[in-house]
This record gives sequence, C-alpha cells and structure tokens, in this order.
Amino acid sequence: MGGEARCPDCDVSLEEADLFTGQGEFRIRTEAESDDVLAAVGVTKALDVTPRRCPDCGLVRFYAEE
Ligand SMILES: [Zn+2]
Repeated sequence: MGGEARCPDCDVSLEEADLFTGQGEFRIRTEAESDDVLAAVGVTKALDVTPRRCPDCGLVRFYAEE
C-alpha cells in the first residue's frame, strides 16, 4: 500500500489499530479480477483488512489489501 493513510477530517496520520471479532480473522470478499479464469466461474477471493484509527477524532477506516 503506497502513501500514508490520513484522516479526512483532521488531516493527521492514521495509526494502525487491532481489530477483534472473536470469530477469527476479519476479511472481506471481492470479485476476482475480470481477466482471471476464476472470475468466469464466479469465484470470489478474500482480502485481509487493515484497520487504521485517527488519534484525534477516533475515526476508523478499513483498508483491504491484496
Ligand atoms: Zn480524525
């Protein structure tokens, strides 16, 4: 992931945060790449999610990483 994550309201750097679900890793599903052979059969893939928190206002954003 390039660049630095910043809060859109405070314009300060977001800090990495830990996320606890109690049910294992937190992930999102996304469509496979359109030119991927798996996409033709409707397979989705899971992405790891990195939560980041604003130290000023507490905003939490989630970044899905390949
Ligand atoms: Zn903020």
